[in-house]
Amino acid sequence: MDTKDLAYFRKLLEDLKLETLKELEEDQEIDATKNHLPDDNDVASVQYEQAFKIRMAERNRKYLKKIDKAISKIDNGTYGICEECDNEISFDRLKARPVATVCIECKIELEKEEKSAN
Ligand SMILES: [Zn+2]
Repeated sequence: MDTKDLAYFRKLLEDLKLETLKELEEDQEIDATKNHLPDDNDVASVQYEQAFKIRMAERNRKYLKKIDKAISKIDNGTYGICEECDNEISFDRLKARPVATVCIECKIELEKEEKSAN
């Protein structure tokens, strides 16, 4: 991958990181303002909402790790190279999923393995 493409993906990843961090912060702010006890009718929906938020926050934290990993790959020159087969991951795939660490062929194979393991 040339330096122009790398700069493009670095910017993309940094924007994603800021966005994800902002989402995490906003979730925490909402929780902090919700210190009042809900009435009975609200309990179920509040519990549902919080479970949903916890899942989202977990997802965002995992995503942040992937973003950081991708940025460090740009730094050490391995960004865009499939971790499974060492081929280049296609530009379109990276554009759609900048944190991808395997090419689409390997992704399909890995998913097949996952399915057969279950
Ligand atoms: Zn591959």
